[in-house]
Amino acid sequence: MELIESRSIFSPATGYIRRGGFEWTCNPYLGCTFGCAYCYAAFLPQNRRPPEVWGRWITAKKNAAGLAQKQAPKIAGQPVYMSSVTDPYQPIERGLMLTRGILEAIRPHQPRLTIQTRGPLVSRDIDVLKDFRSLRVNMSIPTDSDRVRQQFEPKAPPLEKRWEALRQVKDAGIPVGVCVTPTLPIENVDTFARRIAEFKPDVVVCQDFHDAGGRFGADTGVTARDLLAGIGWGPADYRRFVNRLRHSVTVFEGETGFFPPPTIESAVAATAPTLFDDYV
Ligand code: SF4
Repeated sequence: MELIESRSIFSPATGYIRRGGFEWTCNPYLGCTFGCAYCYAAFLPQNRRPPEVWGRWITAKKNAAGLAQKQAPKIAGQPVYMSSVTDPYQPIERGLMLTRGILEAIRPHQPRLTIQTRGPLVSRDIDVLKDFRSLRVNMSIPTDSDRVRQQFEPKAPPLEKRWEALRQVKDAGIPVGVCVTPTLPIENVDTFARRIAEFKPDVVVCQDFHDAGGRFGADTGVTARDLLAGIGWGPADYRRFVNRLRHSVTVFEGETGFFPPPTIESAVAATAPTLFDDYV
């Protein structure tokens, strides 16, 4: 692990994150020790090492919390995506607490925050997260099968730990998203769709694998391609799952699902009693 001093902790959003409506991204780390076989972040210019070593290095911005203290006023009330080039709940976050330090620093400025993670460690920070008035915690749960998870993302946390953490976040009254992204092979489409629907997440996102024959950086890597082919999972299976899920929940696909939580005003209005509520 490398520790660096960074000059900035909030960067202007670009690409699909910008198109989704975010103004800022926040990355306490570069690299990612979860090392998923299909990871597109491995090809991003911010992650400057060769994709071949992806998953085996991590750089921590040791001054992240201090920077957030200084720079938080510029993101006040604005949509922030955390994180865009890595996962903010890396295993080393348990000791370093950079993500937590940033959350504490930005809390008084109330950005519209989206946290995107595979890390159950997010539940550690519920005490801070509860103070954000416009927030969504998106958990990536890309399959129902831990056997499949171990093939595609062997170093990432087990699926049940993610469900458990997301349950705790939800029970604390924090809006949550379930991101079946990228949608990995699913063992039991009906059971998984039912589980997601019964969980009642605020947002559900699915995303099929890119397939451009390896012609661009964010394309599905050869390891993931081979795994998909070996399992015999393809676009028709993805479509069958999404159609089944749509029986019970609204499903956003691909980048359409990555949008900020409602503004503080609209979130408050949505929870205010309506005339109709008075009569039920
Ligand atoms: S957790 Fe996210 S950033 Fe990390 S390797 Fe997996 S997909 Fe890439």
